[in-house]
Amino acid sequence: MADDSRGGFAALDPCVHCGFCLPACPTYLATGDEADSPRGRILLMRALERGELRADDPALGQHLDACLGCRGCEGACPSGVGYGRGLESARERITATVGLPAAARFVLGIFARRRWWRPAVTMARWFRETGLARRFRGPTRTGFLFGMLDATTPDRPEPTPRPPRARSAPRGTVALFRGCVMDGLFDHVHEATRRTLIVNGYTVVEVEGQVCCGALHDHAGDRAAARALARRNVAAFLGQADWIVVNSAGCGALLKDLGHLLGSPEAEALGRSVRDVTELLAAAGPVTGGPVELEACYDPPCHLQHAQRVHREPLAVLDAIPGLRLRQLPGADRCCGSAGIYGALHPEMSRAVLDEKVAAIAAASPPPDVVLTGNPGCLMQIGAGLGAADLPIPVAHPVELLDRSYRAAGWYDPASPS
Ligand code: SF4
Ligand code: SF4
Repeated sequence: MADDSRGGFAALDPCVHCGFCLPACPTYLATGDEADSPRGRILLMRALERGELRADDPALGQHLDACLGCRGCEGACPSGVGYGRGLESARERITATVGLPAAARFVLGIFARRRWWRPAVTMARWFRETGLARRFRGPTRTGFLFGMLDATTPDRPEPTPRPPRARSAPRGTVALFRGCVMDGLFDHVHEATRRTLIVNGYTVVEVEGQVCCGALHDHAGDRAAARALARRNVAAFLGQADWIVVNSAGCGALLKDLGHLLGSPEAEALGRSVRDVTELLAAAGPVTGGPVELEACYDPPCHLQHAQRVHREPLAVLDAIPGLRLRQLPGADRCCGSAGIYGALHPEMSRAVLDEKVAAIAAASPPPDVVLTGNPGCLMQIGAGLGAADLPIPVAHPVELLDRSYRAAGWYDPASPS
C-alpha cells in the first residue's frame, strides 16, 4: 500500500539501477557524469528522503538543479519509475530549505502577476515588431535572447480572415486556455487554434479570470505558488465547457495533473477535461484542408510526448495537410534544452543540449522549410538555436500549418460557401 507521507519519493521505489534510462538523458549525454543521469539523481533523491543528505547539500542541489525535468528517462524505463513525481518532491523540499535563486524569484514573480507581466510583454512585442530582434539575434547570450523573441514572430502577417464555419458535425464546447507566454507572444497560435477547432465542429469559448498555469513555478520547486495559481484556474474554468483546450505542452501537462497538485475533487474533474489541441483535432478527423507544399520536421515537446504521452495525435493533425512532407529527425525524442526557465539559470547546459538538435536539423536532407513543435519554450529555444547557427528556417506550431491549409482551401475567404 502506498505511503502518502512519502509524497513523490515513493514513485522512485521501482528503480533497480539497470541504467536503461541513461542514453535517454540529455544532461548525462552532455557531461558523462553519473550524478547527472536519472539513475544517479534517483540515488541522490533517495538519500535526501532518508536524511542521509541534507536539503542544502551543494552537490545535491547542483545535480538536481541541472536536471531538465524533461522526463525522457520515464519513457525509457522498463520498471515504470515515476521520476517526475520524485523530482517534484525533492525540489519542493530543497526550495523550502534554501529558497529559490534571485534570478528565478524575479522571473517567476513576473509570470505570477499580470500587472508585471503585461508591461513586460508589451515592450517585448514592440521590440519584436521593430525587426531589431531579428537583426540582433545570434550565438552570443544576448543574441540568443533576441533570437528567442524573434522566434515568436508570426510566420507571415496576413489579413484577418473571415470567421470560419464548422465543416464537421458538432463536437461540443471547448474553453481556450490562454496561459502567459502563449497569450503574450503567441496569440497568432491561439487564433489558429480557435479557427481550426471551429472548422472541426467545436464551439470555442473564452474564460475570464484565468491566470498562468504555474508549471514554471512547479518545476522550480515553488509548489505553493503553483497551487495558488491552480486554485484560481479551477475557480475560473469549472463548469465552463466540455473540455479545456491547451496548445502549450508544458501548460497542458500541469493542468492535466491538477488533481494531484490540489487534491480536490473539483481539480481532479477539471484535470480530466484538459486536452492538447491536437487531441481534440485528431478526435474530429481532422477535416482535410488545402495543399501546403513544404518539407517539415516535427519535434515533439517533452511535456507532450513524455509527460502527457501524446504521440499519435500531432502526426494525425499534420497528416490532414495535403502536400506536407513530414519527418521526425534523430533525437526528436530528446529535450531541446528549453525546460521552462532552465535556459536562464543554466545557459551553458541548455545550449549544449540544444546544439544536438540544431545539428540534426542542419544535417537533414532535404533541408526542412519549417520546424514544427507544440510548446512556446521549444519554439523559442529551437528558433533561437537556428538563428544562432545562421539557418534561415522558421519554427511554427502544428495548428498554424493546419490553419494555413484551411486558408489554402479558401475556407476563410469572404466568398467561400459554407
Ligand atoms: S530509472 Fe528505470 S531505467 Fe533508469 S536505472 Fe532506474 S529502473 Fe533502470
Ligand atoms: S528528466 Fe530529463 S534531464 Fe532529468 S534525469 Fe530524466 S532524462 Fe535526464
